[in-house]
Amino acid sequence: MQPFIYNALPSRVIFGFGTLIQVAEEIRTLGCSRALVLTTPQQRAAGEQLVAQLGELAVGLYDNATMHTPVEVTRDALGVVEQTRADCVVALGGGSTIGLGKAIALNTDLPQIVIPTTYAGSEATPIIGQTENGLKTTQRTLKVLPEVIIYDVDLTLSLPTQMTVTSGLNAIAHAVEALYAKDANPLISMLAEQGIAAIGRALPRIHANPNDSEARSDALFGAWACGTCLGAVGMSIHHKLCHTLGGSFDLPHAETHTVVLPHAAAYNAGAAPEAMARIARALGVDDAPRGLFDLAAKHGAPTNLAQIGMREADVPRAVEIACASPYWNPRPIEPAAIGELLDNAFNGNRP
Ligand code: NAD
Repeated sequence: MQPFIYNALPSRVIFGFGTLIQVAEEIRTLGCSRALVLTTPQQRAAGEQLVAQLGELAVGLYDNATMHTPVEVTRDALGVVEQTRADCVVALGGGSTIGLGKAIALNTDLPQIVIPTTYAGSEATPIIGQTENGLKTTQRTLKVLPEVIIYDVDLTLSLPTQMTVTSGLNAIAHAVEALYAKDANPLISMLAEQGIAAIGRALPRIHANPNDSEARSDALFGAWACGTCLGAVGMSIHHKLCHTLGGSFDLPHAETHTVVLPHAAAYNAGAAPEAMARIARALGVDDAPRGLFDLAAKHGAPTNLAQIGMREADVPRAVEIACASPYWNPRPIEPAAIGELLDNAFNGNRP
């Protein structure tokens, strides 16, 4: 066994079907009584239902959560927190909604109950990414780690199939980078392999039948496992590239992860053979980067950056931004090779 250091994060996780009913009790357990419910315009109806369910425990609904956590939206939401004298936030939605809850917590220290409806995994991390003036920066602080996570598998049945596949690959990306992280440790690596395997098993089944509740349950468990990995150890080139493409070129989050992941894995394959072997084993394939590419391609997800809004002329600028302040990576960051990586992702070449 290699020497390692492991920091556990505090967390309370409720996982199951129909668990949404437990939100009121969790608000009271936190000692709170004035919850502001957060969601996106697209999930407004679900937010309204939750407000109605909470009765006098809810003081309002803020439904303008936006991808990549723009600081202007956070400022607007902070105004509503103040007006409503909310004493906790309840985030119902994907990573964008959870990101807004974290941004509010960063500014106010209010406790958060989060109810994830995608597989992005933000709920399990003390990480917040925020976008200001076209640049996305991330920080780690326990201030943003949600107090309570309520996973309700029923709420994920409505996640459209393509979003299910891309969000699942977003989760897998966390586990892939955890396996070759500088601070990797045996507990998180076990969880990473389990998380990849659970999502790898679930996606083909959900693609065939979006109402397959057992597969939905596997995928949501996988999302928690993979999010926990992201929360516990460092990120590398894959996340750096995705933060660059999302923050500076406004590419959609989960789709960007889906397209970049096989190429980031290929970039690191020679430097992280053990991680590649574990990813391949979890997916039941011979080659990790190709297995990741095929998981997307076979299930209708985008496989090239052009498809999701990237302009070829912007590739050199993306390389420059990503290489300017890189995260630690098992293979040294070589700008020319990162350029090749992004060219391959732009064109959708199978690794
Ligand atoms: P999202 O939250 O933007 O959701 C995408 C769309 O799907 C939204 O319109 C949303 O309302 C809708 N949706 C979500 N769940 C649904 C459901 N069950 N049924 C129907 N519609 C549903 O997308 P995302 O990929 O989950 O999150 C992306 C954001 O999360 C990015 O800003 C990213 O930076 C952040 N993120 C942060 C971390 C972290 O640790 N800080 C980790 C992962 C992602």
